[in-house]
Amino acid sequence: MEQKVIRKIVIAGGGTAGWMVAAGLSRTLGKVLDIKLVESDEIGTVGVGEATIPTLVTFHRLLDINEQEFMAATQGTFKLGIAFENWRDLQQDYIHSFGVTGKDHWTAGFQHFWLKGRERNLASDYGDYCLELKAALQNRFAHLPRGGMNYAFHIDAGLYAKFLRKFSEGYGVQRVEGKIVNVQTHPDSGFIKSIRLDSGADVEGDLFIDCTGFRGLLIGQTLHEPYEDWTHWLPCDSAVALQTESVGEAIPYTRSIARDAGWQWRIPLQHRVGNGMVYCSKYSSDEQAKQTLLANVVGKTLTEPRVIKFTPGQRRKTWSKNCVAVGLASGFIEPLESTSIHLISRAIIRLMQLFPTTGINPTDVEEYNQQTHNEIEHIRDFIVLHYHVTNRQDTPFWNACRTMDIPASLRHRIDLFRETGRVFRVPNELFAENSWIQVMLGQGIVPKQHHQVADLMSDAELSRFLDGIKSTVDSTLLQLPKHQAYVEQYCKAAS
Ligand SMILES: Cc1cc2nc3c(=O)[nH]c(=O)nc-3n(C[C@H](O)[C@H](O)[C@H](O)COP(=O)(O)OP(=O)(O)OC[C@H]3O[C@@H](n4cnc5c(N)ncnc54)[C@H](O)[C@@H]3O)c2cc1C
Repeated sequence: MEQKVIRKIVIAGGGTAGWMVAAGLSRTLGKVLDIKLVESDEIGTVGVGEATIPTLVTFHRLLDINEQEFMAATQGTFKLGIAFENWRDLQQDYIHSFGVTGKDHWTAGFQHFWLKGRERNLASDYGDYCLELKAALQNRFAHLPRGGMNYAFHIDAGLYAKFLRKFSEGYGVQRVEGKIVNVQTHPDSGFIKSIRLDSGADVEGDLFIDCTGFRGLLIGQTLHEPYEDWTHWLPCDSAVALQTESVGEAIPYTRSIARDAGWQWRIPLQHRVGNGMVYCSKYSSDEQAKQTLLANVVGKTLTEPRVIKFTPGQRRKTWSKNCVAVGLASGFIEPLESTSIHLISRAIIRLMQLFPTTGINPTDVEEYNQQTHNEIEHIRDFIVLHYHVTNRQDTPFWNACRTMDIPASLRHRIDLFRETGRVFRVPNELFAENSWIQVMLGQGIVPKQHHQVADLMSDAELSRFLDGIKSTVDSTLLQLPKHQAYVEQYCKAAS
């Protein structure tokens, strides 16, 4: 085991992952660490990754990042959830919002009362009991006291990296421009000693953070850490991305529109819209995907369609020896629920909590890898759910998704909900009960039963309970400004 005090940190790669790591490390331990970030303008970044989830708000709070400055700098808009269009069936849409729906009882979630209400003709749509969902549909947004509105952001990925670069350099991070051409390891321990740049310079470090994207130059190409391929559960392995001009007001949610062999995203920013198609190469050629995307974007195109290939999955270990892989170098579950940037922030928080002082402690490494693995498996199951639970039979792709094998852990969740309406969040799981319920109902699962506790209420009581929640949602909605107007007064970007 290496026993050196960990002082010199080398971050390889300056995409969203590299600069988020630089920001996190420098803001917390910048005074005692020597942090260098190596990036190559010539290679560039993946250039996508613009929809986030509410945990980014928390990450920014930990770093004391000013939200208005961040949003203005990244042409940001607010996001209240994701609209899933044509997923359950053609012409059938639902929203997975970031809000809480209704009110739970300690024995039974709100869905049990709602299910009873549906049976008795006393309840309207499940989404009518969720403020964020209704606000998204009505294109409204405002910050509310006491976290009364759960939200995330849409951001320009390139501008976000620039914003974090300025932030990190303010806390002492040194940026080194150059192409990594070689990685040197210690002959005995196999630990990474230095990275060599095309200039011939060597950058030495005690701890290396691999943020080189899909290439995984350190964790994969040097340390040969195996990659678990999840294509059998997550069939999409390709994407095509392009940007268009904005048409109309920016809506406060991401759109995910199911297509014949995958799905299309639409991410509204202040200055443009990010568009793309995620698809399965077995059922669509790159050319077909490009044509489908081009036929379904609104507004003038600003860039050429760009194809990105990936293998859905995860490195078996994301911390190996003195190298921690963060971002795409560590793995990639496709972008359906915008979880990648979240996983970057989680990796940084975990690394800070397990940050080595003297040497690299194998028990820390084991703990880090175990936590990472558990976290990602639950997210994987949640994404697989969207593909698998569908009524669509109109294309070979959807037939394959509907009939594919799924992880046993997901099978259990689906069966539990279908039979009894129950959902339990696993400890430290990202997606809470309400997310699972929104997506399971949205994809077409109707529970066969509700909890008996809902039967204790008379029709009049149940009606009062349901209507009370709905009228609180409706009266709050009336006070919310339009999303576009709110963005303009709160965080308008320089044109
Ligand atoms: C199609 C698609 C859509 C996505 N959508 C979302 C989304 O909506 N939300 C979300 O959270 N995530 C999304 N993601 C994931 C998100 O894009 C990434 O998690 C995020 O951008 C981080 O990427 P990265 O920094 O790991 O890699 P990259 O952006 O690829 O950065 C790699 C860095 O390494 C450098 N580098 C590589 N090789 C060398 C070398 N030899 N020498 C020097 N430097 C080198 C590059 O120059 C670059 O700076 C999406 C991903 C894809 C593929």
